Amino acid sequence: MQSTMQDVPLLISRILTHGSTIHGSSQVITWTGEGEPHRRSFAEIGARAARLAHALRELGVEEGQPTGTLMWNNAEHVEAYFAIPSMGAVLHTLNLRLPPEQLAWIVNHAADRVVIANGSLLPLLAPLLPHLKTVEHVIVSGPGDRSLLDGASAQVHEYEELIDGKPETYDWPELDERQGAAMCYTSGTTGDPKGVVFSHRSVYLHSMQVNMAQSMGLTDQDTSLVVVPQFHVNAWGLPHATFMTGVNMLMPDRFLQPGPLAEMIESEKPTHAAAVPTIWQGLLGELKAKPRDVSSLTQVTIGGSACPPSLMKAFDELGMRVCHAWGMTETSPLGTIARPPAHVVGTDEEFAYRITQGRFPASVEARLTGPDGERLPWDGESAGELEVRGPWIAGAYYGGHGTTEALRPADKFSEDGWLKTGDVGTISSDGFLTLTDRAKDVIKSGGEWISSVELENALMSHPDVAEAAVVAVPDEKWGERPLATVVLKEGATADFNTLRAFLAEEGKIAKWQLPERWTVIEAVPKTSVGKFDKKVLRRQYAAGGLDVTQI
Ligand code: ADP
Repeated sequence: MQSTMQDVPLLISRILTHGSTIHGSSQVITWTGEGEPHRRSFAEIGARAARLAHALRELGVEEGQPTGTLMWNNAEHVEAYFAIPSMGAVLHTLNLRLPPEQLAWIVNHAADRVVIANGSLLPLLAPLLPHLKTVEHVIVSGPGDRSLLDGASAQVHEYEELIDGKPETYDWPELDERQGAAMCYTSGTTGDPKGVVFSHRSVYLHSMQVNMAQSMGLTDQDTSLVVVPQFHVNAWGLPHATFMTGVNMLMPDRFLQPGPLAEMIESEKPTHAAAVPTIWQGLLGELKAKPRDVSSLTQVTIGGSACPPSLMKAFDELGMRVCHAWGMTETSPLGTIARPPAHVVGTDEEFAYRITQGRFPASVEARLTGPDGERLPWDGESAGELEVRGPWIAGAYYGGHGTTEALRPADKFSEDGWLKTGDVGTISSDGFLTLTDRAKDVIKSGGEWISSVELENALMSHPDVAEAAVVAVPDEKWGERPLATVVLKEGATADFNTLRAFLAEEGKIAKWQLPERWTVIEAVPKTSVGKFDKKVLRRQYAAGGLDVTQI
């Protein structure tokens, strides 16, 4: 029997229309570094997105055309987020922290014709432009030295001039909800970067999930400090989700250092914030050095890499309740989120649930696969590679401009279409995921696996340790053994023997897993989105660049 329901496509233009009318007075607040931040209502964003779409159409942007943004988190970037997909083109957010060669490769692979860039990023864009073969137009927004683009082969436009006088409404086309709306390349830790293309439908459904009470669950009474960059998996879906519910967005623009972030929290009083652990470690240090009133901020979403328990506890003590979440570019990104089940709330067990990666939402199916391809039970003990599927999970990568074929590498997609995440962990019988490692970071010692994350979390709970990363290094006897690289806090006195003894205390870490190789480093190298970059550490070790003590 056919249903009798209307068939209305799930389109980003609907989210925009809803947000800019029903929640027209909600605001995007952009930090400017001096004086009052810049405030723009959702209604204004809606009108300006329509004007931008008219301008892009006049520049020849067609349906299906990837259109790049090289921007910080700010109101204009939100306008691009809605204008580009709503008119049928594809928003292509560019990660401004990638090495320039990789960025050029990505723009050429997607064949962006137009790039909208913040003026402050022209020092990055200008030298790159001669290598961007398809870029015909650059639209510049916000402060920055325009003369850097003198003599550029692409036509240069001012954002404000370009949209000035254009109509404030746009007859958004009724698109196929399955067509591409936005794309994002993974940072390509091995091989070339891979393009994930989100559909209108996937973005829409993902936004509804983000808004659920058991996910972030924000309302128009909230203000969210969106620290996670808009080029990092659509800022975890926040710009779309907030336009559904009227949550105000506080955008830090380029002011991502702990000092300005603390200032933003104190003066604009956000109730929620989202970022990777590194940002929160920095903020914690800042707040200890210079206490500020951050009491408005009661909910903090941490994901992107494992949240150390010590960090969660420290934030809890400040009254900011951390909610841990897991995901990846290929999962839009929300894959799990750690809201503890009702029966443990208020008990000693609650923390153990909160520190897991979390529970799968209804639309994300999961399974664990062992080394021989066998299905592993959800018993909280059997560890295997996590595979997922669902309406906002990638089933392939973009093949590149000029091809119609998508890429389905066998190490990333199973024969029956599930995404192989490359993450190793366990799932409890009530559906909570605990990741022990990324497959490529696991330490294989004498046929047993040692979790680098477990060692790092234990080390970072020592009061003298600011950061710690543990990597596998070759060992004649065991195949691989852990190398502990430690960043000590200022004035810290702990030596390696003390730290090793600390790990062994109370059976925190099994004796055979304790590292014998130790080194102190100044800072853990970070990836373009602020995660520990372990391949750099492995390379430094291999090249003899680390001063290692054996105990
Ligand atoms: P990249 O691959 O460039 O790091 P992603 O942002 O897509 O880009 O990274 C996804 C990966 O980040 C996941 O596969 C996982 O290894 C890691 N990750 C994300 N969230 C968490 C988390 N809460 N705990 C542990 N690891 C996480």
